[in-house]
Amino acid sequence: MTTQLQLPPAQLYIDGGWRASAAGAGFEVENPATGATITTLSSGTAEDVDAAVKAAKRAFESGPWPEMSGAERGRLLWRLADLVERDREVLAALEAADVGRPYFEPFTFEIPLVADTFRYFAGWADKITGTTFTLPPFAGQERLSYTLRQPIGVIGAITPWNAPTMILSWKLAPALAVGNTVVVKPAELASLTTLHIAALIDEAGFPSGVVNVVTGTGGVAGEALVRHPDVDKISFTGSTAVGRHIASLAGEQLKKVTLELGGKSPQILREDADLQAALPVIATAVFANQGQTCASGSRILVHRSRVDELAAGLAEIARGAVVGDPFDAATTMGSLISRDQLDRVLRYVEAGRSEGARLVVGGNRIGDTGYFVEPTVFVGSNDLTIAQEEIFGPVGTIIPFDDDDEALRLANDTEYGLTAVLWTNDASAVTRFTRTLRTGSVWVNAWGPPHPALPWSGRQSSGLGEELGTAGLLANTTEKTINLVSRG
Ligand code: NAD
Repeated sequence: MTTQLQLPPAQLYIDGGWRASAAGAGFEVENPATGATITTLSSGTAEDVDAAVKAAKRAFESGPWPEMSGAERGRLLWRLADLVERDREVLAALEAADVGRPYFEPFTFEIPLVADTFRYFAGWADKITGTTFTLPPFAGQERLSYTLRQPIGVIGAITPWNAPTMILSWKLAPALAVGNTVVVKPAELASLTTLHIAALIDEAGFPSGVVNVVTGTGGVAGEALVRHPDVDKISFTGSTAVGRHIASLAGEQLKKVTLELGGKSPQILREDADLQAALPVIATAVFANQGQTCASGSRILVHRSRVDELAAGLAEIARGAVVGDPFDAATTMGSLISRDQLDRVLRYVEAGRSEGARLVVGGNRIGDTGYFVEPTVFVGSNDLTIAQEEIFGPVGTIIPFDDDDEALRLANDTEYGLTAVLWTNDASAVTRFTRTLRTGSVWVNAWGPPHPALPWSGRQSSGLGEELGTAGLLANTTEKTINLVSRG
């Protein structure tokens, strides 16, 4: 495939138009696989965020958006999905170049899921209803009580760099379906597809101000969005540390907040599992997107009798990985996102070694251009730093257990609780593990990205509130209670 990129406008998208940042300043976008500069984007300031929020507030309160029927909002979202499908190659190429991941990943998985997400929530747009209640009379008079489901207002959406297009759709689609307006602050390391989607939103014919995009840093544009008094809710996906900070700011203002944060998810391989069938998926769950996946199954808990077989199998897959140019069709792993991320991953590899884990394969940087690192596997224990902290790189730790009780104890012995993978053919084990794992979701004998129809949430330090599914849809609404008391 061609590496010629179709670049989006390098400006802020506010009130239906493109404009430079108030400060006139920009930041360079690096292609992490080559170190080359792709383009320069606008650094949004507090002033820009204020203009975007004002536009979103105006669009929420007046103009065509609040008058629009659910069916019409659904039609716009459906049109946007068609445009995403039309531009599948453009979006996949932008994400591959921006993030450093192999082109086939966004082309095959994420971009089709983006279209599916817009269509799934388009279907909900005209089906938002309240509830009626049959209650005893109030003060001797008949009453009718019911609820109205209403949009919240202006939603501030802050996204991470690892799956920037898919996560953008998780925030936009439900928020827009129910009638909110949105200001997006994409990750400064990967904003290109968000700007392209803004251009598609414009082309689809969404009214001005309904969606606004302010590129820039988290500390300036992101923080200004969280602090803005006219932002009614923050929907954040990113690291646990920044999530905690945002929660504290939101707490001061009693602002609604949804947080989708980090993970350290277990894959549990019982003695009975079909290991040879599981191996390629176990490896994908650790190495996909160079391990820069919130749902990465980087703690590989395995029955002690099968440790050697698993380690040998993963080592063979890791040695066979083709690490290199994201646009080469043979490539299975690309570059880490940045120099900082490379240093972080190598620091964790060093921590694994120095704390006594056995390095099975990998552990080194590849070359000195781009931020390529070998797929890496350790055998160790659950108390090691590499087993407790989110590395966000292609590093898995095999951890032996002796029985189901121990497997469950180890799986839940973490501050996180995003997802888990269970490898077994025993139905009673499926029942026990899926009930007892403290995670927002569990995959059984498989691993993959969330579907928009399914709720996605993290327990403990992995998050607060729901995204996707009907719970995620309703998290973009408020429910107002109405009491009609008849005087007759
Ligand atoms: P990050 O927390 O560094 O940044 C996320 C976003 O927050 C970026 O847009 C950033 O600019 C912004 N930000 C940073 N500081 C801010 C501040 N003070 N105020 C407001 N916004 C601010 O995370 P990242 O490195 O971009 O992403 C990786 C993390 O995201 C990992 O921990 C990963 O597990 C997590 N993640 C979670 C999910 C999920 O669904 N649970 C999905 C993808 C990624």
